[in-house]
Amino acid sequence: MYSDRALVIGAGFAGLLAARVLSESYGDVVVVERDRLTADTPHRPGVPQAHHPHVLLARGAEVLDGLFPRLCAELEEAGAVRSDAGSDHLVRLPAGWAPRDHLGTSVLSVTRTTLERTIRKRVLKLPNVSLVDGVAVRGLLLDRGTVIGVRGVRDDDLFTDYADLVVDASGHGSKLVPWLAEHGVHCPAPMIVNGRASCASRLYHLDGDLRFDWKTAREPTRAPDLTRGGTASEVDGQRWFVALVGAAGDAAPADDDGFAEYAASLRCQDIAEIVKTAAPASPVHRTANLRSRWNRFHQVPDWPRGLLALGDSVVSLNPVHGHGLTLAALSCADLRHLLRGNDLARHPLLFQRAVARTAKVPWTSVTTADLGWSGRRIPPRVRLRRWYARRLTDAAPGSTRVYRAYVRVTQMADHPAKLFAPAVIWRVLSGSRPRATAR
Ligand SMILES: Cc1cc2nc3c(=O)[nH]c(=O)nc-3n(C[C@H](O)[C@H](O)[C@H](O)COP(=O)(O)OP(=O)(O)OC[C@H]3O[C@@H](n4cnc5c(N)ncnc54)[C@H](O)[C@@H]3O)c2cc1C
Repeated sequence: MYSDRALVIGAGFAGLLAARVLSESYGDVVVVERDRLTADTPHRPGVPQAHHPHVLLARGAEVLDGLFPRLCAELEEAGAVRSDAGSDHLVRLPAGWAPRDHLGTSVLSVTRTTLERTIRKRVLKLPNVSLVDGVAVRGLLLDRGTVIGVRGVRDDDLFTDYADLVVDASGHGSKLVPWLAEHGVHCPAPMIVNGRASCASRLYHLDGDLRFDWKTAREPTRAPDLTRGGTASEVDGQRWFVALVGAAGDAAPADDDGFAEYAASLRCQDIAEIVKTAAPASPVHRTANLRSRWNRFHQVPDWPRGLLALGDSVVSLNPVHGHGLTLAALSCADLRHLLRGNDLARHPLLFQRAVARTAKVPWTSVTTADLGWSGRRIPPRVRLRRWYARRLTDAAPGSTRVYRAYVRVTQMADHPAKLFAPAVIWRVLSGSRPRATAR
């Protein structure tokens, strides 16, 4: 048996950040990862979402820089593109074009591979963190209500490792619920909201002569009538990601003609223009069944000591809204804060409750939007929220103040209460008119 040792399952985004945080409190931190991680692998099976664009919201970027000084600057040096969510974004809302004023809230558009590789490099420089790849964890080792390690396989050999604290960061496909059930610990059924959304993405090389006055063009979907949306965003210098999003089963096709026709059906024709004129730099990758799922681990009374879970393993949000990375980063910030004054191996529910508190706002905002597609009966309080959100997005093209409030809340920079500030409510309810200058 080891002592003062933490083991993290999964070297994805949340696992790497968790390892960084744990390295401040544990003498030895080991990350076990199912995939083989070689520097030249652009895509690996464990993170199929790497075929799709990733944006890191301002709040998430702040946490990353707090954990790894200058990390966002390093990401930009590696090709990530920082853009102001107002002046650099061309956004076609249902009622018109969003204002293009500078909002001072920036997002980082980056390929998933660059993001992970850059963070992994920084984490593995820490003297007390190590990575064991090629290990598929298959279960937990428990002793009298305490998790003491994991079991799995590596190259067809059995693998066992022991630790004082095990952190599950194995993502959306985590098997933590059945692993716990094997030891008689039962979790409540997860909450699921399924908007039957899908995303089809392709990278493009842009001709050096093509210039835009924006870095991201976006058209969001809106239930119940606008099932189609999309984004085009600059990543890694000359390459652009186009992602076409469909809700309620209205999926973008993966073939060339179908992809182009779907893009042409959007009102933001700038996205279709890239598909029409630029050279494809990848095949179209499609991911369907993009839903939100919450495993309510904080409500498991006999949750074992020595076990924590974070990232998509606990709450995975419909990625169309771009909150997953930021939520995982915020949970790691909670972990850091709580580890300073608590023995979380003995009191793991302290952390799981913090994860739940942090997830509540993004969960509510994502599922309020997606319940409109689900075909389920919508409770009156959600119907009221949906009604207000609709009025708000319709008022946004005519009011920078309303749009700024909307952007800051959707970027998780402000609490949704800000959408009910008197100046915002007044403009929303009086129905600001879209300005004559369309873009
Ligand atoms: C199409 C798509 C687009 C997205 N776009 C965005 C976006 O723009 N912005 C945003 O914020 N979020 C986005 N997300 C969400 C984001 O990718 C996730 O929220 C984030 O990756 C969660 O991190 P994680 O570490 O929990 O899981 P992951 O990053 O998925 O990592 C899990 C890791 O665990 C490993 N693993 C799994 N099982 C085992 C096992 N049994 N043993 C050992 N290792 C294991 C996997 O190989 C993987 O490395 C998107 C997601 C999708 C699907």
